[in-house]
Amino acid sequence: MTTSNRDVETAAAPQAAPPERPSNFIRDIILEDLKINKYNGRVQTRFPPEPNGYLHIGHAKSICLNFGLAAEFGGHTNLRFDDTNPEKEEQEYVDSIIADVRWLGFEWDGLYYASDYFDQLHEWAVQLIQAVKAYVCDLTAEEVRQYRGSLTEPGKESPYRDRSVAENLDLFARMRAGEFPDGSRTLRAKIDMASPNLNLRDPVMYRILHAEHHRTGDKWCIYPMYDFAHGQSDSIERITHSICTLEFEDHRPLYNWFIEQLGIFPSQQIEFDRLNLTYTLLSKRKLLQLVREGRVRGWDDPRMPTLSGIRRRGYTPQAIRNFCAAIGASKTNGSIELAMLEHFVREDLNKRTLRAMAVLRPLRVVIDNYPEGQVEDLEAVNNPEDAGAGTRKVPFSRVLYIEQDDFREDPPRHFFRLSPGREVRLRGGYFIMCTDVVKDEQTVVEVHCTYDPETRRGNAPDNRKVKATIHWVSAEHAINAEVRLYENLFTTEDPSNVPEGQEFTANLNPNSLEVLTNAKLEPSLASAKPGDRYQFERLGYFSADLDSKPGALVFNRTVPLRDTWAKIEKRDRAK
Ligand code: ATP
Ligand code: MG
Repeated sequence: MTTSNRDVETAAAPQAAPPERPSNFIRDIILEDLKINKYNGRVQTRFPPEPNGYLHIGHAKSICLNFGLAAEFGGHTNLRFDDTNPEKEEQEYVDSIIADVRWLGFEWDGLYYASDYFDQLHEWAVQLIQAVKAYVCDLTAEEVRQYRGSLTEPGKESPYRDRSVAENLDLFARMRAGEFPDGSRTLRAKIDMASPNLNLRDPVMYRILHAEHHRTGDKWCIYPMYDFAHGQSDSIERITHSICTLEFEDHRPLYNWFIEQLGIFPSQQIEFDRLNLTYTLLSKRKLLQLVREGRVRGWDDPRMPTLSGIRRRGYTPQAIRNFCAAIGASKTNGSIELAMLEHFVREDLNKRTLRAMAVLRPLRVVIDNYPEGQVEDLEAVNNPEDAGAGTRKVPFSRVLYIEQDDFREDPPRHFFRLSPGREVRLRGGYFIMCTDVVKDEQTVVEVHCTYDPETRRGNAPDNRKVKATIHWVSAEHAINAEVRLYENLFTTEDPSNVPEGQEFTANLNPNSLEVLTNAKLEPSLASAKPGDRYQFERLGYFSADLDSKPGALVFNRTVPLRDTWAKIEKRDRAK
């Protein structure tokens, strides 16, 4: 091969046409705000991950929306770590998130941490105490829950609700100073225990947590709750459009309440639908469980829906961006077919990958009438989608490997590949005819053929036709490789749906990984480096795995060729 896959990606890659833009109600809101000059024509967004796990494809949707919308209107996007739960957060996750956002192709304007704002948040909490809008409460977490009431019943006021400002200031200072044990007291907003919105029933603003924080160390033993940190962080960064997923819709009144009480920059929260994918779980907590229990090899296992997993599997950032653009954003939660994501992966890989021949489950073929010791170089096209990708030479000789699946001693109807007495075309070259088989017990271990020297260019001078073209690798020139094939990690469309008393892990697919250790590759693949992507003819798209070493290559199947999504689309159109 003359060009490496890397070059193809950066230089010669045919640029993907900008994906069609489906309607996106957030864009409409921004357009409206620009029209009325709400934020002086400014658009500022942020992507706010909690560093408690690796990013997954659901986060990619949020990233594409935040960065994409800001870019569209000449705005800016911050990356902000929402690090208010010290017990679950780690530097490893911060590092992986930074790498993943960059890999997706985005660069932030400011990099911030909610923990950067702990002093400011604390000051604002004191301010709310002084304004009689917050109080220290001694109820336990369980009691707070009981007092909160339910959707049908109003809550009950805490007996500590009417403490004096002085007492609250004193207790809050002592909470901060570390005088009280974890869980013994909280600071709560004084709003309305009868509000129909449970989030407004005196929500907790601060809790006591004697925990080491990955950035602030042991400086704090009280930590703000999400609701008291998020909106205020938005406001500090002068975020105009704070977009988040629908489960926060009920929190918006509280988001606005804090901003109004403090009189700070009026960021606005807009909620969109969370991405759900069939056969996939998008929850860091559950993905962490799979890692901890060793159900997968790690966060970057190619079966994982994490960005590091799908990167390792061979998905391209462009394919993910195209997918996210196509799904848009809406106000109702639904589920997207995994086949649709795979469709975008194929579409992108088809344009950018070099073709190669590889045999996953080899069967020896001896061409009896081909001269011993002779080697010919057959010319093969590197990428029919990209004339600039050129051609390469593939060695052909007397002994080849073909796919076991491409031979049947006793072919069923509609099987047109090789079988005794049948002639097929070898990809890029000759016609061969099967004349004999060698068996070990019941198993065919070798096939004997003759070839027709007149068919070197893949056609017969007498115009006789063959019904199948199969791929092959010259045995003498083949390089050995390990190939890992993947199926969906879960067997059910909605893996979170489990019978009573069972865990979601009951839905794991026991066949999600198949390792083939005897694959045979054409010699041009010898130089493949981890991350290089190819189309193995007739088999699918493959990517050299991180475990690859020179002389011991490992490939992941990114996705097979068959495009079920195109079929679904066609079926739906026909309806
Ligand atoms: P998880 O349940 O997987 O931990 P999360 O919402 O707690 O998800 P965060 O790190 O808090 O994860 O999320 C950062 C941003 O990404 C948030 O704005 C969140 O709404 C968004 N996000 C998370 N999951 C999805 C998803 N499946 N689809 C779209 N956006 C998502
Ligand atoms: Mg979260």
